[in-house]
Amino acid sequence: MMIVERAKVKVKCDASGCNNLCDYVIVNKKFVFDGSVYLCANCFNELYSEMGKFVIPKNIKPIYKKGVKNGKE
Ligand SMILES: [Zn+2]
Repeated sequence: MMIVERAKVKVKCDASGCNNLCDYVIVNKKFVFDGSVYLCANCFNELYSEMGKFVIPKNIKPIYKKGVKNGKE
């Protein structure tokens, strides 16, 4: 599972080329890149808005979903 927390340690942001101190940490206990990812507020917001391009909030159901069988799920 993935957990996002406020960073408790003062380390540099993991984004390459970014020299800010981290504000948030993504703790990852499932995926292959086992470990934590530290991000500053800037990079965190950037990542979040990027994800927003692809992620549909769960409470919004696509109206065309019913009966669609194109092999994609
Ligand atoms: Zn950063």
